Amino acid sequence: MHPTGSELIVHDAAIRENTATFAALTGGRVMAVLKADAFGHGAIARSVLEAGACSIGVAALPEALALREGGVDAPLLSWLNTPDADFEAAIHARIELAVPSAEHLHAIGAAAARLGTRASVHLHADVGMARDGCPPREWSALCTLAREYEAIGAIRVTGIMGHLSCADDPEHPQNIRERLVFENAARTAGRRGLSPRALHLAATAATLTGAVPRFDVSRIGAGLFGIDPSRSTTALRPALTLRSRVVSVREVGAGTGVGYGLDFVSERRTHLALLPVGYGDGLPREASGKAEVLVRGRRRPLVGRISMDMVVVDTGDDVLEPNEAVTLFGPGDTGEPTVAEWAEWSHTIEHEIVTRLGSRASRISRTLDTANAVSDARTRDTVNTPQL
Ligand SMILES: *Cc1c(COP(=O)(O)O)cnc(C)c1O
Repeated sequence: MHPTGSELIVHDAAIRENTATFAALTGGRVMAVLKADAFGHGAIARSVLEAGACSIGVAALPEALALREGGVDAPLLSWLNTPDADFEAAIHARIELAVPSAEHLHAIGAAAARLGTRASVHLHADVGMARDGCPPREWSALCTLAREYEAIGAIRVTGIMGHLSCADDPEHPQNIRERLVFENAARTAGRRGLSPRALHLAATAATLTGAVPRFDVSRIGAGLFGIDPSRSTTALRPALTLRSRVVSVREVGAGTGVGYGLDFVSERRTHLALLPVGYGDGLPREASGKAEVLVRGRRRPLVGRISMDMVVVDTGDDVLEPNEAVTLFGPGDTGEPTVAEWAEWSHTIEHEIVTRLGSRASRISRTLDTANAVSDARTRDTVNTPQL
């Protein structure tokens, strides 16, 4: 147990099982998206590759370099870098680079020329959300420029990517529009003499719902960790458990105010237990007054405001022991709250809960649960035959 008493458990088998689900669904064409330290789940690259992912995608180059240095040999794609990023290091480490602009292409082409080698790039088309990627009106010129860099041996365009704005709603008409923009971008690339082998547009939601075709590769992030933005399947398993342990307990009478502002006032005699985990560890303060935890097999409310380092549980007639374990969230198998519930209590999405509580919660120890989890996954007969 970590000195602070709180522990985040990463369920390796759940991640493997979810990866296998997507591999089965896509015929093995899964790029595992491990940005933000694998959505806060940490070093699980080997697990997803063993479970059927064929490549890995991350946002920034340092994330890709760290994976390569950590021994990951699979294809790696990095898609979010400033044009002055260290593209020489990227090319040297065989990292594929997404290209959203001519500035990026010039920088990557120059770096490859200095190294006397070819960089593998994926042209990134903005298909509709005006965020990352090349705007449609600049696309044709970007393709022409890319072809010129191919001709001098500095790059090879191996992929074309886009990212959908509304895929969590498969009925949204924007999906059709963005699919057409993407297909048009791919046709333009072909007319400019490019022949990318991998077109990729779908992430977790579109891969599950079929909101757009899956083309050659699906970039799967959230789904690996049991998060389904489309809420269309129950075949995925959450992969994090957060536990803490009791610092102290007290009995209080009716009318006792608890925590800053005394927001909660007890209605009857009850018992309170103090846990050493708070918003400084990533718990959303906004869940104050709503959140529950599981203790001795029962849901109990957190009472009063969530503090920086601590929270208080109202345990009713149960008198907890100091050091006793309390589950803040988990897969939900034994009645504990889930990350989805914490997201609802704090008006956010599951992604934010897992990333803020994961790697960014430096005071919480993180352990990879490999042992009991493997048998756990094997006992589930839905592993490779999801009904999706
Ligand atoms: C995060 C991200 C993904 C993965 O999306 P999920 O919905 O988490 O599967 C795919 N592509 C890009 C460009 C992303 O930024």
